[in-house]
Amino acid sequence: MIHRGKLSAGALVSRFPLPDAIPRDAQWVLVSGNGVGVTGGDKPTIFSGCNPAEATSSVLRVQYLGHRDTVACYAAEIAPGTPLPGGWQLSGVRELFGRVPDQELAIAALAVQIIDFDRTTQFCGRCGAKTRQLRTERAKFCSDCNLITYPRLSPSIIVLIQKEDQVLLARSPHFPPQLHGLIAGFVEPGENLEEAVHRGVQEEVEITVKNIRYFGSEPWLFPHSFMIGFIADYAAGEITIDNKEIVSAGWFCRDNLPQIPSPLSISRALIDSWVER
Ligand SMILES: [Zn+2]
Repeated sequence: MIHRGKLSAGALVSRFPLPDAIPRDAQWVLVSGNGVGVTGGDKPTIFSGCNPAEATSSVLRVQYLGHRDTVACYAAEIAPGTPLPGGWQLSGVRELFGRVPDQELAIAALAVQIIDFDRTTQFCGRCGAKTRQLRTERAKFCSDCNLITYPRLSPSIIVLIQKEDQVLLARSPHFPPQLHGLIAGFVEPGENLEEAVHRGVQEEVEITVKNIRYFGSEPWLFPHSFMIGFIADYAAGEITIDNKEIVSAGWFCRDNLPQIPSPLSISRALIDSWVER
């Protein structure tokens, strides 16, 4: 079975070209900084039927997200510090996990990412001229030099390494105390995914692996990573760490696991599926 991540916004379908005007029945997601508006009450939701531009003058930007069935969804960014409409509060995307349905969580993550795309591509990266939004695809266009800019995605590998009945877990210095995770790293230009796995494992724990197989993938907006998960078998070598990227690493049995990442992450999905095997 292929892993289906909680942050895959597959519930939205993009339809281009964009309509001339925003449909009156559009659904809105409010974004402010890296936070998303969410209602309180028994069934919190990130969606509002109200165009925020009608409620506040502080809308900084509006971006089309995609269609949920026949309904168009848009994200609107309001200026930091602006009061939200009554009953709404601002939440980080991770903090929405478990509070709203997983589909909405994924759309919230997408909204933050697409708003950031708009915010950071106002000017052409090649000639510095003002860009404009294309209506035919999700991209910005520079009419001075014809450069097209797409949303940025940074592919990263993450790999669960197994050795008999043990799994390799490691601690990054950025992790909270006690938390252990899997070996991960960005894919470099010119590399394929298997090479990125071999290099990442070699760099972080100085062992070699074999039998690399695909597990699943996950868009991960923190900040614009795209995680591609693998399972691999230990081949040779002794774990050695550099005390910079990794501060501790070791082999762990199923009944002796340390604290592991949140169920939101593909890291946790990889570990959970290993525990169940
Ligand atoms: Zn340009």
